This record gives sequence, structure tokens and C-alpha cells, in this order.
Amino acid sequence: MQIMSRGLPKQKPIEGVKQVIVVASGKGGVGKSTTAVNLALALAANDSSKAVGLLDVDVYGPSIPKMMNLKGSPELSQSNLMRPLLNYGIACMSMGFLVEETAPVVWRGLMVMSAIEKLLRQVDWGQLNYLVVDMPPGTGDVQLSVTQNIPISGAVIVSTPQDIALMDARKGAEMFRKVHVPILGLVQNMSVFQCPKCKQRTHIFGADGARRLARTLDLDVLGDIPLHLNIRETSDTGQPIVFSQPESDEAKAYLRIAAEV
Ligand code: ADP
Repeated sequence: MQIMSRGLPKQKPIEGVKQVIVVASGKGGVGKSTTAVNLALALAANDSSKAVGLLDVDVYGPSIPKMMNLKGSPELSQSNLMRPLLNYGIACMSMGFLVEETAPVVWRGLMVMSAIEKLLRQVDWGQLNYLVVDMPPGTGDVQLSVTQNIPISGAVIVSTPQDIALMDARKGAEMFRKVHVPILGLVQNMSVFQCPKCKQRTHIFGADGARRLARTLDLDVLGDIPLHLNIRETSDTGQPIVFSQPESDEAKAYLRIAAEV
């Protein structure tokens, strides 16, 4: 992919937002949204004085409404900005609040870009210390548009240890480097599965692939998240693990990652 690193349009901060952290992945289905949700909750849990928001720009497959157990449409403020929906102390905005859940999302080009413009510029976030942005997978127009429009403090790249996911994670890292977004590090998701009965540990998607990639690219690994039934179940039921089982080892893994960013 060709990216112009010079002559980028001038980035404008989102009003009231101190730091934007984007959560990205090369491939879909590797746990990017799950990580974004739990990272947002973990940032708030690690320091209760910090206000945290979550912005879902995964316009073709928004998962934040379901994972954060939120429904409905945002109200408008006096200045005609959309008010984020709130749950578990996190202010959330998603394309999922703006279109029917069952509506086919078949927008192309300009429509997606105008949706992104709305999500970036027409939300009244109030004052936030962190805005965690759940990006779409890959390295397409949406990612480029977000990186060109707002200043980003850092990117977290999520990958499983599997070769095919790592190949795409590498492309993601290269894109952020080209557009001068600092990469905070990689999260190795689904790093290991421990059988709940016999306790045997199995590296279903391979062992330590993200660590090897991080070494090649001179990046940090922010942490490992195991493949665990509770992570999947709590996501599907809209009770993210950092909120619902904060004492679990899995929640602690997210809390450690949040302490690194
Ligand atoms: P992406 O945003 O990369 O498409 P999701 O976060 O939607 O991926 O995750 C895809 C599926 O995998 C979801 O059903 C989610 O609950 C599940 N999942 C993600 N991470 C884990 C994990 N560490 N353990 C178990 N299930 C997970």
C-alpha cells in the first residue's frame, strides 16, 4: 500500500480528549475489540481519577454496543453534538448506535468517510484522559483517515501467535510507522489455552509468534492474553471480564497491559 508520509492534512485534536490510543489488528477475529473494551476498562480501573472513552470506528462490524451492553441512539447536546452512551463508567460511541443492528452495512467510499467524520468530530466527549479507538482490521482508508485527522498518542496492535495473523500485524505496524504514529506495542492474544480439567497448557495458535515479530520489528510486547472461555462468554454477554471478574488472572492480564500504555 502506498502511503504519503509527507503533506498529510493537518491533524486536529478531538475537543476535551487528552490522549487517543488506537487498538488495531491486521486481521479480523483476533480479539481486537475484546482488547479495546478491556483496555478501556482497565485504564479506568488502574486510576479512578482518569476519565476514559471508547470509540468504535469498526464501521463495517461494530461490536462495542454488544460487548458494552449498550443499545439506543445518542441524544444531541445543545450544540448539536452526539452524547456518548455510558456503561461501566466508560463513555462509548459506535456506528452501531447510529444504524439498525439488522441493517446491512453496505456503504462504500464517501458514506463510510462521512460516518467517520461524524464519529470523530460530532461527539461531545466532555473531558477525557484517554479515548480508546477500536479500529477496523487491516490497513485501509478508515485507518488512514483516522491517523490523518486526529493526533494519536499511540497504537496497540493485537495479534494471535499464528503466522497468518502476524503477517498482517506486520503490515499494520508498517502503516503506523509510515504515518508517524508511535506504536506502544503488541498484545499477543489467545497466547495459550489451559485445559480446565487436566490443566495441560496448549499453544493452539502457536507459541510466542508475537514475541518473535516484536523482536524483528523492534517493538515491545505489552502482554499475553490466554484463550479462555470466560473472556469469550463475558464479551458475548456484555459483561467484559475486567468489569465482571476483576480478580481473575485474565482480567489481571488486561490490567497489566493498561499499566504499560
Ligand atoms: P476482532 O475485533 O479482532 O474481530 P473480537 O474481539 O471480536 O475480534 O473477538 C473475536 C471472538 O473471539 C469473540 O467472540 C471474542 O469473544 C473471542 N475472543 C477474543 N479474545 C479471546 C480470548 N483471549 N479468549 C477467548 N475468546 C476470545
